Amino acid sequence: MWVLGLTGGIGSGKTTVSDLFAAHGIQVVDADVVARQSLDKGSPALEAVEARYGSQALQQDGSLNRAWLREKIFAEPEEKQWLNALTHPLIRKEMLKQLHAATSAYVILSAPLLLENKLTQFCDRVLVVDVTEATQRQRTQARDQVSAAQVEQIIAAQASRAERLAAADDVIDNNGAVSQLPAQVEKLHQQYLQRVAGSSK
Ligand code: ATP
Repeated sequence: MWVLGLTGGIGSGKTTVSDLFAAHGIQVVDADVVARQSLDKGSPALEAVEARYGSQALQQDGSLNRAWLREKIFAEPEEKQWLNALTHPLIRKEMLKQLHAATSAYVILSAPLLLENKLTQFCDRVLVVDVTEATQRQRTQARDQVSAAQVEQIIAAQASRAERLAAADDVIDNNGAVSQLPAQVEKLHQQYLQRVAGSSK
């Protein structure tokens, strides 16, 4: 299976771009979705979380209290390490399973932390959605109603724009209007189909 890694910082437009590839019939494995599902109700990982923190980690209906856990691992780095050690192998296994199960011409692995978590090892090519940090801040705040300080913290914890561009095989410029994306996606999609047909990277 030929895998295209898709990445970009918070609010850069990964989902907007992967939806356009999906419209061409390309399947998308979203690391964020897999990560969320790894702690779904009834999952072994959620049971481990409950065993460690008790019922305060859960909501009334037994599902994970994600806001509580976010606060917890933000405040206590060693708890973040524990959670990552618990979930990362599960997330990786599930992502690989979904990548192998894909039936489209090629498959996209979309992950905000593709570089940071070294998921590039599973990718034949890396596509970066590029925006300026100013655009990132503005779009993320408009979408998530989060504080400027929170956005700043997330940006600081992710790879820099320069690091991402250095790792990119291809770049989509998303500083302009959404209407400028389909043509860029179409062009890359045709290139990827050719690469897959020729089996070159
Ligand atoms: P995250 O990693 O934070 O989930 P993302 O990289 O998947 O984000 P999107 O959710 O696709 O990014 O885009 C972030 C926000 O910016 C969304 O509200 C989206 O509708 C908006 N957006 C994306 N591209 C553009 C654009 N070119 N012009 C204006 N708004 C845009």
